[in-house]
Amino acid sequence: MQFIDLKAQYRALKTEINANIQSVLDSAQFIGGVYVKELEAQLAAFTGRKHCITCANGTDALQLAFMAAGVGEGDAVFCPDMTFISSTEPAKMFGAASVFCEILPDTYCLDPRSLERQIQAVLAEGRLTPKAVVAVDILGNPCDYDAIAPICGKYGLTLIEDAAQSFGAVYKGKRACAFGHIATTSFFPAKPLGCYGDGGAVFTDDDDLDKLFRSLCVHGKGPGGKYDNIRVGMNSRLDNLQAAVLLPKLKALRDYELDARQTAAGRYSAAFAGKLVTPFVAEGCVSAWAQYALLAKDTAQRDKIVAHLTEKGVPNMIYYPKPQHTLPVFRDDPSYGEVFLNANDYCARTFSLPMHPYLTEAEQAEVIQAVLEGANL
Ligand SMILES: *Cc1c(COP(=O)(O)O)cnc(C)c1O
Repeated sequence: MQFIDLKAQYRALKTEINANIQSVLDSAQFIGGVYVKELEAQLAAFTGRKHCITCANGTDALQLAFMAAGVGEGDAVFCPDMTFISSTEPAKMFGAASVFCEILPDTYCLDPRSLERQIQAVLAEGRLTPKAVVAVDILGNPCDYDAIAPICGKYGLTLIEDAAQSFGAVYKGKRACAFGHIATTSFFPAKPLGCYGDGGAVFTDDDDLDKLFRSLCVHGKGPGGKYDNIRVGMNSRLDNLQAAVLLPKLKALRDYELDARQTAAGRYSAAFAGKLVTPFVAEGCVSAWAQYALLAKDTAQRDKIVAHLTEKGVPNMIYYPKPQHTLPVFRDDPSYGEVFLNANDYCARTFSLPMHPYLTEAEQAEVIQAVLEGANL
């Protein structure tokens, strides 16, 4: 059994993926090309965004977003405590501070009230300038954008949706990547929409930002092309081979993979209801189920379950073992010494089970049995 079964997906899509890869090889068009163009158009249409600009990976997508937001020395970037390092790492490279916020106890996403408190604390201290908010759709579950967007508006902050884990998710009728001034995603192989290497994208409805991103991705190119450099940029592009792989995968995600993820998550939740804390998806939302995470009653029970799963050959992971604000890299940032009870509690009890669209009922039965045995339930 695989934690995320990329081989099963390849078997299902082999004919289309192989044909696309072969056609890239025949065309020898590796950087840019027809598949990149077609993919950007389809990603924009699927997410309901005016513009999609692909790039080299999800971390670069966030870096591009911070560059567009003008994040620099002395700025504060706000972010939930439960995420992967990429959410604010690129902002720190520009000399900004990461200010972490508490997570909600049910969705594990950014707590809007904690966000506002942290913004006010930074303003009261007067040392840093609040600049941007990174709202992370953690585990595939979308944030409460109706609560977060007005706070960003009130304080004049750029809202960035980090949708690396939530591609395909829905919040009140709109797809993930449709929120904030800028949204970013990742096509790392294990993400809900993954390529066969690294890849990422930024999304926006703003025509000027679209032009800026296309310049930033190619060494700050100007109207005269890539030798007419008008700003400092990056070399961050998705290659044609990756786009060729992503197109059939996007079709599969749309046609049946998202549904298959819902079915698998539903089976787990039915089996664990009342026994362990099952994932909560808010009314009007659909998770992309990047991960299926349960909470045990305490760390001791979690560790027993995880040990039993490993002994039985059932793959498992902990996303994530530590809250961001406690990581040594953030030792000089304002939230380093703070305590976020929900984030602490989540880290102490969480564990994730195999989750992907090709998971069979028999495999799930095996996982469920091993979890319940490990938990002594
Ligand atoms: C994976 C991930 C990223 C970074 O994506 P890469 O393509 O690996 O650079 C950013 N944010 C979150 C929340 C992620 O899970």
